[in-house]
Amino acid sequence: MNIMEMIDFTKITACGECCAGCKKKENGLCEGCIESDGHCKEWAESGQCPIHKCAREHGVQFCGLCSKFPCGELTKKIHWNPNIVEHLTKLANGYWVKDILKDKNLALIGFADLSEIDADLRYGFKYGICIAMVLEVFPSVAEPSMEYYNEYRRLNRELRNISNFLADAIKERGLNAYSLAGERQNEDFRTQLPFKTLATRAGVGWIGKSAALITKQFGNAIRLNGVLTDMPLETETPINSSLCGDCEECVKHCPGKAITGNSWSINADRNDLLNAQECKKTVIERGKIFDLTEGTCGICLTVCPWTKKYMNQKENKK
Ligand code: SF4
Ligand code: SF4
Ligand code: SF4
Repeated sequence: MNIMEMIDFTKITACGECCAGCKKKENGLCEGCIESDGHCKEWAESGQCPIHKCAREHGVQFCGLCSKFPCGELTKKIHWNPNIVEHLTKLANGYWVKDILKDKNLALIGFADLSEIDADLRYGFKYGICIAMVLEVFPSVAEPSMEYYNEYRRLNRELRNISNFLADAIKERGLNAYSLAGERQNEDFRTQLPFKTLATRAGVGWIGKSAALITKQFGNAIRLNGVLTDMPLETETPINSSLCGDCEECVKHCPGKAITGNSWSINADRNDLLNAQECKKTVIERGKIFDLTEGTCGICLTVCPWTKKYMNQKENKK
């Protein structure tokens, strides 16, 4: 599976801008730096953007990936941006992360600025990298299934391994990183920094009425993990509000009546949305036939319209 790019690096210009969304381009006033091969109107008089030309001669998409970065020519030509080296360094770090994870079968990778979260909760790290894999097997509403339980365990295991791999790779570059793979839940089924908090800060999705992370691309059919780091990254715009709207599918179908029906907002506590003790009781009750205590419900996942949309798309592609 191709990783869904949160930052699409193919749209990043040589100097680290992104023409996508530019009003001049949208209104047909400019072709775009990449599309015009550096001959856009801004550079009409001189022929071609010297940074674009130089980047192409050096065989790189943008300057942060060049062996000569940061060269004097770059800072001289892009004199209007005092943060150009910092910006291109962040982009290059993100590019590196996506490159080393490209064969890991991830569905989503998002970069988060965590500075608004209490420093103790994020172990003092400013940046977070959220990773997600998508389920191939979905929970059945009728009864628990070993197939789903095995899938749930497989994704959790693979994501833990990838988080540890990524944290080690960052440390090998001389930067600091902390894998969240080893975090354990307390007696109230909470971790210090929930993956879903990291995911909302990384623009990956919102927290549904079911208290699970919901994405536009895959609904709730994902598992998450992550890494905290001091490696500077260009981060995504956080998601601060729910797209659940009037939907109550998870509320209606939850066999444990554990979902309150409240909508998530940025200051909401997990308990405002979900009675985690009742959810756990239901999971254990449903798991009795297999003697399991996790991965035996997930009905809220299957009935979510965002998950159904993904499942239908997947079915139609067959
Ligand atoms: S970093 Fe300097 S040498 Fe490398 S592509 Fe950019 S402008 Fe050219
Ligand atoms: S996992 Fe099951 S019991 Fe828990 S909230 Fe979802 S539907 Fe309810
Ligand atoms: S089922 Fe509906 S209310 Fe529940 S998480 Fe999905 S969209 Fe939100």
